[in-house]
Amino acid sequence: LKVGVSCCLQVALRIRPLSDAEQEEGATIVAHRVDEQVVVLMDPMEDPDDILRANRSREKTYMFDVAFDFSASQEEVYRATTKGLIEGLISGYNATVFAYGPTGCGKTYTMLGTDKEPGIYVRTLNDLFRAIEETSDDMLYSVSMSYLEIYNEMIRDLLNPSSGFLDLREDAKGVIQVAGITEVSTINAQEIMELLMKGNKLRTQEPTAANKTSSRSHAVLQVAVKQQSRSRDVLQEVRFARLFMIDLAGSERAAQTQNRGQRLKEGAHINRSLLALGNCINALSDKAGNKYVNYRDSKLTRLLKDSLGGNSRTVMIAHISPASVAFEESRNTLTYADRAKSIRTRVKKNLINVSYHIAQYTSIISDLRSEIQRL
Ligand code: ADP
Ligand code: MG
Repeated sequence: LKVGVSCCLQVALRIRPLSDAEQEEGATIVAHRVDEQVVVLMDPMEDPDDILRANRSREKTYMFDVAFDFSASQEEVYRATTKGLIEGLISGYNATVFAYGPTGCGKTYTMLGTDKEPGIYVRTLNDLFRAIEETSDDMLYSVSMSYLEIYNEMIRDLLNPSSGFLDLREDAKGVIQVAGITEVSTINAQEIMELLMKGNKLRTQEPTAANKTSSRSHAVLQVAVKQQSRSRDVLQEVRFARLFMIDLAGSERAAQTQNRGQRLKEGAHINRSLLALGNCINALSDKAGNKYVNYRDSKLTRLLKDSLGGNSRTVMIAHISPASVAFEESRNTLTYADRAKSIRTRVKKNLINVSYHIAQYTSIISDLRSEIQRL
């Protein structure tokens, strides 16, 4: 992604590989990446003849800043979405990266990843430390990270869960802080990965009808970069920037998870946070700049206040499954991501050769059509 001077929401879309479970269910692939920006979603109609009889398009195409499918490596996803934020971060610009999508579609894989295939968290921290090393010696940097969960509108320290629920406080400079949160300043990648893996296991995960380990919580990795002049004689200029990397709770609808009682309450909170986030981003990107931004609506948006409201670059990575069985959820997610994308229409867009794209997906669609007919 080219993160320009004008700050706005950048939207990436990642389609994960078909899972074994989906394959066993006999699911087919209905979400395809056409090229580096375009994705097509096919409606898996029961009767292929219906498609022909209806004689209308059963496929919908979407365009994002960048699109990935099963073939994309963790490094590729990191490079195209997050790497570009680091330069801004060390010069004092806030940034936010969040993973959005239904449970099981790859949010945690993208953000945390595995030991062998680390995700955005560790790659970003590594590059941040490297970038700081390469900067001039007159500046002194300190980096600290904390890892927390927002569950049911309550904040827990994932690096020290025994500390109970934590509160948000405004510090002397008016920056929202999580009171009493553990801050770690290690620069050892292996150590960081272990801390995050351990913390991730402590996330609140409850079984629901939709998924056995549905993530009902938002996980937030907060990276604070403080910068000051080394010289003692000169007035020390202190710059402070924060990067939030967020693994959001599953975006699936409460109705679909057949939630009851407690689950329903949690669902409402999760939706509240997701909704509040969407509303804030909407208001912030209002061209006239006169929309009221209601950060106070949820813990998540209160925490993100400085990150979203100041000089911030924000990247959303939306996740979907390619499977026919996930069609409805995928369509919802694509619609949400598409709307988020349209928020930044005022930003100068990369030149897009429309006819090229049309030719590309026309050919893919006809391939898929003949595949359906062959079935
Ligand atoms: P979420 O956090 O959105 O609920 P996960 O990240 O836990 O979903 O992904 C669900 C499963 O799919 C995990 O077993 C994960 O390892 C696997 N997975 C997700 N995305 C990918 C990918 N791009 N490549 C390989 N495996 C993936
Ligand atoms: Mg997850």
